[in-house]
Amino acid sequence: MEHEINWKQITEEAASTLSSYIKINTTNPPGNEREAAEFLAGILRRESFEPEVLRFNDRRSNLVCRFKGSGSDKPLLLLSHMDVVGAVASDWEVAPFSGAIKGGYVWGRGAIDCKGPGVMELMAFLMLKRAGVTPKRDILLLANADEEAGGGAGAAWVVENHWDKVAAGFVLNEGGVGISGTYGHDLMMPCFGEKGPLWIQLKARGESGHGSMPTPDNPNNRMAAALARIARYDTRIKLMPEVRDVLLTIGKTMKFPASLIAPLVVNGPVLNVFRKRLNRSRKINAILRNTISITNIRAGFKENVIPSECDAVLDCRLLPGEDKDGFLEELKGVIADPDIEMKVMQYHSPSLSPASDGFMQALRKVVSRNNPDAVFLPMLAPGYTDSRFFREKGAIAYGLVPCLFAQEEIDSMHGTNERISMRCLEDGIRNIFDMCAGF
Ligand SMILES: [Zn+2]
Repeated sequence: MEHEINWKQITEEAASTLSSYIKINTTNPPGNEREAAEFLAGILRRESFEPEVLRFNDRRSNLVCRFKGSGSDKPLLLLSHMDVVGAVASDWEVAPFSGAIKGGYVWGRGAIDCKGPGVMELMAFLMLKRAGVTPKRDILLLANADEEAGGGAGAAWVVENHWDKVAAGFVLNEGGVGISGTYGHDLMMPCFGEKGPLWIQLKARGESGHGSMPTPDNPNNRMAAALARIARYDTRIKLMPEVRDVLLTIGKTMKFPASLIAPLVVNGPVLNVFRKRLNRSRKINAILRNTISITNIRAGFKENVIPSECDAVLDCRLLPGEDKDGFLEELKGVIADPDIEMKVMQYHSPSLSPASDGFMQALRKVVSRNNPDAVFLPMLAPGYTDSRFFREKGAIAYGLVPCLFAQEEIDSMHGTNERISMRCLEDGIRNIFDMCAGF
């Protein structure tokens, strides 16, 4: 199906909308997403949609809008978040909330995470009506508050309190991206699952004293020994069938003879032989096992005082199917010091959608048509997004901003000079529009 669409004009409109959207500072905390929700609602109302602003409180809102389809198939929900992380203005080439349009890019905090993708979804949604397309199923547009701080005022709250308005069978969200020119290939990597973050605080206590006379129970010594054991510890490799398929697809894209060896490597026992080498690829390592990063160590206040406490924080990430309590027991064994206290600071369970559902096939078809040279590589994400709340409700959720970013665009996310190219905007809108029109 071909629609009469002027893509150049649509992309310019998207860039101008994104520029205004970035100017609304929604740094979280505190978020203040209400103004952003009203901004999006205004655009939708001007084109005779009926958006609803779901008020969490006076300053924080979420926005939902429905476009009726012809059939009764389960709705497809386009998901994004309106809040952004902070920015240190002095490090940037442009003011982070200026929304500058220059050099073929829209610049500013949120350009990629996640206001740019939100605008792609908005434009695709508007175009359904403009082009007179009636999709088979209802299409829902949802822009959430509070993704960057856990979703308590956003996705978690909306799903809990307004499920009737957002009940969807399928969700397209952030979480995966396309990247151009990685290892000589363009890769389009939709995420079908996410690892679960488990943040743990460790505490050792002892008697404080003068640094000139060492004490037998210096908490720093005990913590240092425990952390050394953790740092040396290799969690076991658990090869999920979905991850096996990821590795096989990567193998196929490699040059001979690696392409020939790859299928052999992808079975449990052989994989174990390559453990040490696999540890070296951070990305591959993270999808093969539960991981532990020591992220904070705090103790002491003066050079000659032995402190009475030493704290450390571990950022652990669990694979889908893994059990938190089992992992905590395992960790206790590694620490091997009953006097070190362990406290769970935060935990979100891992989440998973079937990797080869019809939804994924439809996504593959659309993306392959519009980006014929890209390798389509469904992925497990080491990080987490709002998708988990929808998976808990039974929806199939995939994370993909369907355009090919340059590596330096990806690196600008949560960093300095965040920006998105016009080419990416156009590509993303086109893919999302085709997905809505054809799925
Ligand atoms: Zn995000």
